[in-house]
Amino acid sequence: MVCNDEVVMVLETKENPVVWKHFDLCLMTDSHEMKRCKACGKFMKATANSTLKKYTDRHCPVTKAKKNEVGVASGTGSSNV
Ligand SMILES: [Zn+2]
Repeated sequence: MVCNDEVVMVLETKENPVVWKHFDLCLMTDSHEMKRCKACGKFMKATANSTLKKYTDRHCPVTKAKKNEVGVASGTGSSNV
């Protein structure tokens, strides 16, 4: 995974704690903002909170793995690790 930008600082956000529990709002070198998944470190350009929430709920590999650990009931199509 290659990223040209570096995180200058992590900004504080107070709105939507549900989303920001899982994401950092990062200020990048060319002064645009990116969301970073706290679990897996993936950067997202998406601004819509619903998109971010959907990511943690359904796509984040780390969060997914954790969920699988908790509820090891039925093996539904696992992919990695
Ligand atoms: Zn993630």
